[in-house]
Amino acid sequence: MSKGLPKRSEDYSLWYNELVKRAGLAENSAVRGCMVIKPYGYAIWEKMQRVLDDMFKATGHSNAYFPLFVPKSLFEAEEQNAEGFAKECAVVTHYRLQTDPDKPGKLRVDPNAKLEEELIVRPTSEAIIWSTYKGWIQSYRDLPLLINQWANVVRWEMRTRLFLRTAEFLWQEGHTAHATAQEAIAETEQMLHVYADFAENFLALPVVRGKKTPNERFAGALDTYCIEGLMQDGKALQAGTSHFLGQNFAQAFDVKFATKEGGLEHVWGTSWGVSTRLMGALVMAHSDDEGLVLPPKLAPIQVVIVPIYKGEEQLAQISEKVLGLKKQLEAKAISVKFDDRDTERPGFKFAEWELKGVPVRIAIGGRDLENGTAEVARRDTKEKSSQQFDDLVNLIPALLDEIQANIFQRALDFREANTTKVDSYDEFKRILDEKPGFVLAHWDGTSETEERIKEETKATIRCIALDTPAEEGVDMVTGKPSSRRVYFARAY
Ligand code: AMP
Repeated sequence: MSKGLPKRSEDYSLWYNELVKRAGLAENSAVRGCMVIKPYGYAIWEKMQRVLDDMFKATGHSNAYFPLFVPKSLFEAEEQNAEGFAKECAVVTHYRLQTDPDKPGKLRVDPNAKLEEELIVRPTSEAIIWSTYKGWIQSYRDLPLLINQWANVVRWEMRTRLFLRTAEFLWQEGHTAHATAQEAIAETEQMLHVYADFAENFLALPVVRGKKTPNERFAGALDTYCIEGLMQDGKALQAGTSHFLGQNFAQAFDVKFATKEGGLEHVWGTSWGVSTRLMGALVMAHSDDEGLVLPPKLAPIQVVIVPIYKGEEQLAQISEKVLGLKKQLEAKAISVKFDDRDTERPGFKFAEWELKGVPVRIAIGGRDLENGTAEVARRDTKEKSSQQFDDLVNLIPALLDEIQANIFQRALDFREANTTKVDSYDEFKRILDEKPGFVLAHWDGTSETEERIKEETKATIRCIALDTPAEEGVDMVTGKPSSRRVYFARAY
């Protein structure tokens, strides 16, 4: 193996980038800001998709697919949304290339092939979807309409970073339509909790559930809910959003329904999404200086078995035992890799699987064969122990559960240790520098104060948490009254 990873404590950002590349998750591409997701990274994303997709279906949603392109006239119909996304849109203007008469062997845009109407590459799909919903919704019997789409979107981001912020990213976007505001709000909240459940029970990432301030709302939404996680460098990461759209898109696209009582009303909408950013959250929340630490529930390989042998005969003996165990574990839906490559030494394999974050490693050598034992190493704590080989089939499933729980607990302890209540602006600034993390402080509720704090400290209001108790206080900057603390942090 080449030399070790950069240390988190020395250069967190470099550590992250190198880890993503060396563990085989993703790499930069020939296109600025766009990444290639490599097979190992994509395998993790597929696991995430499968779990989320099941959760969406269990809550009544169906998948559908809408076009990548949005005609400009549709895109601009909901003005707030259009204005919010305008600055980061890729626009298709032509539909043909031709050989360049002045530069042999080169192509140029055919000036005679200009599109009559420009097409926006979707940065989000409300416009195209709501223009379609107009045809799908006539009466209260058509509601609620609960649709999800798995897709790619493009936002022309200036400062990109693998997974966390890319110009093209993969995501799912839910788009629902309801008869009443209450139903739409209930849906928005339900999906926030689905995301939080996924983050905590699969990503092993504790998240704060809350509402964004008006400044940070999704363009075109009346309310944006979010989940916020804390990364190991003390920066927050917004890991998912769920929006209550009111009747904004229904009005812009004239989507009305006949009510039970015989009236005609605009429908109420929601949208919600999580993206490949979750891959970044996974890496940043749990991994260490040796490599990835994957929560077992999302690890493409949950157990790796490395034989330590002298000669073909011993390998054959080990293989026979191992293949039996592999089969038994697979019958319990555990994914097992038997790394019997004869091109690499055990030490190399250990380091490689450590880098790739496989939760459990089993090593079995000549002496183990004699004693009926195996060495079991867990990736999260790096503890090793010798176990009876025959016990492994029962021990491993329990160990995977324990690792999943331990990774979550570790992240929760970290978040708790790095969440600080402060009451003065000086203390706020000091904490941000000395002990970065979430800072709970009073805020007077105005955009001006929020902007000022952002400008002066680079910290933003991550959310107004759903579970923070009411507490009388005063804004740390303006001294104006405040009725509850909000979560501040520097964020990705
Ligand atoms: P939004 O539509 O802005 O509410 O974003 C939906 C989801 O996509 C959120 O979970 C964001 O964290 C995520 N997201 C937004 N922009 C990017 C980006 N450039 N790269 C990756 N994920 C993103």
